Amino acid sequence: MKIDTIYIENAAESHPNTYDIIKRIKYKNIIYCNSYSEVFNSNNQNFRIQKESPSLILAYKKKNFILKAPEKFTIGFKNNYYFSHLLNCPYDCKYCFLQGMFNSANYVLFVNYEDFYSNIKKIAGNNEEYSCFFSGYDSDSLALENVTNFLKKFIKYFEEIKKGVLEIRSKSINIKVFEKIKPLANVIPAFSLNPEHVVKEFEDKTPSLSKRLKAIIKLQNLGWSIGLRFDPLIYCEQQGDYEEFFKNVFEFIDKNKIHSVTLGRFRMPDRYLKKISKVRPDNNLIQFENVKRMFPKLDQGYDEFQQTFLIKLLTRFIEKEKIFAN
Ligand code: SF4
Repeated sequence: MKIDTIYIENAAESHPNTYDIIKRIKYKNIIYCNSYSEVFNSNNQNFRIQKESPSLILAYKKKNFILKAPEKFTIGFKNNYYFSHLLNCPYDCKYCFLQGMFNSANYVLFVNYEDFYSNIKKIAGNNEEYSCFFSGYDSDSLALENVTNFLKKFIKYFEEIKKGVLEIRSKSINIKVFEKIKPLANVIPAFSLNPEHVVKEFEDKTPSLSKRLKAIIKLQNLGWSIGLRFDPLIYCEQQGDYEEFFKNVFEFIDKNKIHSVTLGRFRMPDRYLKKISKVRPDNNLIQFENVKRMFPKLDQGYDEFQQTFLIKLLTRFIEKEKIFAN
C-alpha cells in the first residue's frame, strides 16, 4: 500500500505502535500536528481527490473508545457495542457512508490499542450476559492490517475475555493474521458478501466474491467459525440472482462452521446521502437511493424483498436461529 505522507499527532509521537508503524512502512514525509482533527476535519478538502492517495494520520484517542451499537445490530448476543480504532478504508464502495460522514479520505489510526482493550475488558466484566464487540464500523477491519498490526495484538487479548466476543468484519482476503494463531471461539472473522455482479458494479477496489469465498474456506479448514454478512443487500430486479447466489455460497463453504448470517439493508442517514449525491452525480446507486428517500413508498418493495423473500430463501440453506436481519 502506497502512503506518501504520515501525519503524527504530538500525543501519539512516543507511543510504541507509532514507532512500529513508521519502522515497517514506506513513506516520503512525516508531518507533526497538535491534533489529528486539524488535518482530518478541515472543511477545505475533497474526499474524491484524497481517495486517490490518502495520507495516514497517527493519533491518540482520549475518550469514547467503545460505543453502544444500534438496537437491532446483533448476531445473537444480549449486549452489543462497536469501536473504531481506524477511520476510512482503502476500498471505494459506491454505497459507503464514510464518503458522506467525513470531509477527508485520509486514514486516521488511533495508536493506543491498549485503551480499546481495557475498556472492552471492563464492559465485558461488568455485564452479566455475553457482550459482542464489532470492529470495522468506520473502516474495513482487515484491509489495512499490514499497516496497523492492530489485530495481531488485539485478537490475543480476547483469550483472556471470558464473556466477550469480537467480530472482525471485512471484505479483505488479507487473512494471514488468522492463519498464524490458534482459532478462538470468541473471535469471529466475518465476511461481507454480495453477488459477483454487485461486487463488480458497486464495490470498487474490493476482492472478488470468489476470492472472498476461498479465504472463508481456508479459515474454516483451520478451525475458525465464520460470520457471513449479506450486507448491504442491493435490490436486484431479478430475485433469482440472490437465489443463485445463496446456492453457490452455501454449496462452496462448510455450513457447520458458520457462526451467524446477517442480512443488512442499505443504511445511510439523509444528510450523508444528500452530500454524496451532490459530489457523485455519476454514482447511480446513490442517486437512486436519494430519489427513493423522497418517495418512501418506493422503499416498501425492499422490506418485502428482505424480510420475507430473502429470509425465507436463506432458511433453505442454514438454521433460522443463525439468521439475523439488521
Ligand atoms: S469496505 Fe466498507 S468501509 Fe470500506 S469502502 Fe466498502 S463499505 Fe466503506
